[in-house]
Amino acid sequence: TTARWRALDVRHHLSPFADYKSLKQDEGGSRIITQAEGIYLTDSEGHRLLDGMAGLWCVNVGYGRAELAEAAYRQMLELPYYNTFFKTATPPAVELSEKLAEIAPEGLNRAFFGSSGSESNDSVVRLVRRYWNLRGQPEKSHIVSRTYAYHGSTMASASLGGMVGMQEGFGLPLPGFHHVMPPYWFDFAEAGETPADFGRRAAKAVEDKILEIGPDKVGAFIGEPIQGAGGVIIPPETYWPEIQRICSQYDVLLVADEVICGFGRTGRWFASEAFGIAPDLMTLAKGITSGYVPLSAVLVSDKVGEVLESGEGEFAHGYTYSGHPVACAVALANIALIERDGLVEKVRHETGPYLAECLQSLSDHPLVGQVRSFGLLGAIELVEDKASRKHFEPLGRVGTLCRDHCFQNGLVMRAVRDGMVLSPPLIIETAEIDALVETARRCLDLTAKDLGIAL
Ligand code: PLP
Repeated sequence: TTARWRALDVRHHLSPFADYKSLKQDEGGSRIITQAEGIYLTDSEGHRLLDGMAGLWCVNVGYGRAELAEAAYRQMLELPYYNTFFKTATPPAVELSEKLAEIAPEGLNRAFFGSSGSESNDSVVRLVRRYWNLRGQPEKSHIVSRTYAYHGSTMASASLGGMVGMQEGFGLPLPGFHHVMPPYWFDFAEAGETPADFGRRAAKAVEDKILEIGPDKVGAFIGEPIQGAGGVIIPPETYWPEIQRICSQYDVLLVADEVICGFGRTGRWFASEAFGIAPDLMTLAKGITSGYVPLSAVLVSDKVGEVLESGEGEFAHGYTYSGHPVACAVALANIALIERDGLVEKVRHETGPYLAECLQSLSDHPLVGQVRSFGLLGAIELVEDKASRKHFEPLGRVGTLCRDHCFQNGLVMRAVRDGMVLSPPLIIETAEIDALVETARRCLDLTAKDLGIAL
């Protein structure tokens, strides 16, 4: 069956973010994942892999949780689908709206649902425009975000994102989307610049951009508290307070994309709490259902919500699956599990600090230029020269080598450029973190060997 699945994959399946030509030519074909339990995946040939990425940064409560399957099953029998258009709602959609308001930072009391992070960020673009239209300032339609950002794959969310490869050749970014540098000290700091000074400079880039476009034209700034897919970019402490000040000074809505950072990943329910961010809008997906079924949400602050509720006419935007009852029921069960198992506290007080300590032990490795982590988000930067932070050329080759060694040695870690990134399920135990970091060191050694670097 493995051979058959691979053949079907090559012949009929266009997978996302894939190089189709090389997939066609690659005799081996894709790895077929067939089963998962806890933090481990099993492929169709029986290999066991420790999933250091929680799928795509989403399986927060781990695999095989019967409570989520049962919640879906019960809801499918009760009411498998009904829409939330045209003044209708369902119990799971409204119950989840209330639950999100309870766990979210203060004032985010309303939820608008979609099925993916991309949809939630697209909805943000609409909500921002609707908000400024109702405030009589329709020209405040421009949005500022950062390079290296990933906010999704639809045309608007890829415009918010700052991934050049997703934009070139696709007519993106769409008009009205602007980018500034990310708060990425390791790659962007000048010689001798401290993280604190760099954080202020990265925030000033946002202010300069707002002034360049004109504050009367800028409606929102969007950023992840920690940029995940961009390479787990943890901003210096000076960054977010400055961003908050700038947004309020120029009357620009502050949008936190918590698609990766939310639901306990950083040892808080939402990373905005950890960085002292008070967002006007917040986008959620992934960990909202631990990836078991597709669901996303935009949480809307009272400030924005009250304007939306004061305007004439309808907000002409929504999805067939907005507030899908099965997805919302699974989200409620997922949040209940996170609460019952104390996963947010476990990451904050136990596994987050433990991962930080274990990653630190890799700093002495000749390939490792920096390790960083926050809660259960981590990164290991691979460099040619530690002192000058010089990357290997071409960028990405060494990361890919290391990633492949990890795969072959039973560990899923992703490479972003030459940064190895980590985001394990929140149920991971300290002994499993030991195993993860031990395998990572072995794979760093194998990568160094490939490069002819003495250990
Ligand atoms: N925002 C962030 C920060 C993400 O990491 C992602 C996906 O990785 C998205 C948005 C898009 O989410 P989706 O793939 O569910 O559309």
